[in-house]
Amino acid sequence: MGIIEDNEHLEELDRKYIWHPFTQMKEWVEEKPIIITEGRDCFIKDVYGKWYLDGVSSLWVNIFGHKKKEIDEAIKAQLDSIAHSTLLGLSNVPAIRLAEKLILLADSSFMHHPASLSKVFYSDNGSTAVEVALKMAFQYWKHKGNEGKNAFASLNNAYHGDTIGAVSVGGVDIFHNAFGPLLFKTYKAPSPYCYRCEFGKEYPDCKIFCLEKLEEIFREHSREIAAFIIEPLIQAAGGMITSPPGYLKGVRALCSKYDILMIADEIATGFGRTGKMFACEHEEAVPDIMCLSKGITGGYMPLAVTLATEEIYNAFLGEFKDLKTFFHGHSYTGNPLACAAALACLDLFEKEKTIENLQGKINILKDWLKDVIGLDHVGNVRNAGFMAGVELVKDRRTKTPYDRAEKMGRRVALRARDSGVFIRPLGNVIVIMPPLSISEQNLIKLLEAIKSGIIKATGAA
Ligand code: PMP
Repeated sequence: MGIIEDNEHLEELDRKYIWHPFTQMKEWVEEKPIIITEGRDCFIKDVYGKWYLDGVSSLWVNIFGHKKKEIDEAIKAQLDSIAHSTLLGLSNVPAIRLAEKLILLADSSFMHHPASLSKVFYSDNGSTAVEVALKMAFQYWKHKGNEGKNAFASLNNAYHGDTIGAVSVGGVDIFHNAFGPLLFKTYKAPSPYCYRCEFGKEYPDCKIFCLEKLEEIFREHSREIAAFIIEPLIQAAGGMITSPPGYLKGVRALCSKYDILMIADEIATGFGRTGKMFACEHEEAVPDIMCLSKGITGGYMPLAVTLATEEIYNAFLGEFKDLKTFFHGHSYTGNPLACAAALACLDLFEKEKTIENLQGKINILKDWLKDVIGLDHVGNVRNAGFMAGVELVKDRRTKTPYDRAEKMGRRVALRARDSGVFIRPLGNVIVIMPPLSISEQNLIKLLEAIKSGIIKATGAA
């Protein structure tokens, strides 16, 4: 078979056998799939040899680009020792070293706060890190003799993953509503979505009114609420919705006031995306539990951690017969290959001064956002560091969104693809989230392709 036939055969096999995530397969099978074979730096190559700029970091995971020498070597070296052994009843070297590094990192990020995070619980993807956090919080209160805390609180527009616990605390209707009857009790608080404020108010005059609403819920139900889970600074999958300054700090204060654990879901925001190692650092909000995944291995391998405070950990200690054990764990928990990749990734942050070097690129992004807000069908632009969203609207004056059937976000993405850029929108929101290591030149290429995609798809000038 020639290359073309071979590729067409692969396409056929893909259509025949793969059920793609978050994908309407009826549409997928009518299109030509892009099949990736190779990656280098911030680019990915398809089977026909066409290169695309990886504008969403391979779903928000990639930090240093593809085929990063140091991470490749760390994985290969680990492979020479052992690929996997379990953390149930055994330990392994990279998992131990990584746990220490993560705790030292959290400690310095949170300025050596006395109630900082001190224990690492491993799992293998963002959703499981959230499940762990929820179960940990729930069981913690039981051990403290508090039997009433059987519910959670979270935000409208929240996204914490796709397992049922994570969906229970989710708030994105199109993803989550279908599962309503399966979900546990969660109090939903208003999303700090200033552009479409649920109360029709404006920041800063509103004095962050949505925090008052959150407090109302806490005041009324704190006896029931084990924990409040939040994506700090930016609700990512809900539409890159950034919270106003002071909101996160306010959340931390309210959780403390009402004896509710604060779970920070830093799965999307962690590892430098917001311009600091963790988003919580921006407002000095030290969470009781923190979930990390995605960028932890530089985008190489599935790995996640749930960090907890000493106070939480201690509540689980006792004789075995007391059944205070945290009965949770996965087959690939603490996988040595993934931990080796994560160690290399953390070394790279130091060696390459990734976060310091990001600041100039964040400014380029911000300037570009200021420019595109002038386009006819751009209703709102927002960013938390290097995570940005451009919300497209049919009518700017009335903020009327494009009808879902118009697939405007997707149309923009397809136009950008013509210019060699791969992006994946969230409905009408164009997501910009390239690898942190992207060069200024490639960042500009990405932004120009998106701008021209918006102009062409919306007909805006
Ligand atoms: N939490 C947040 C904030 C996320 O953005 C995501 C993934 N987009 C998850 C949890 C779930 O992670 P995973 O897809 O690895 O299960």
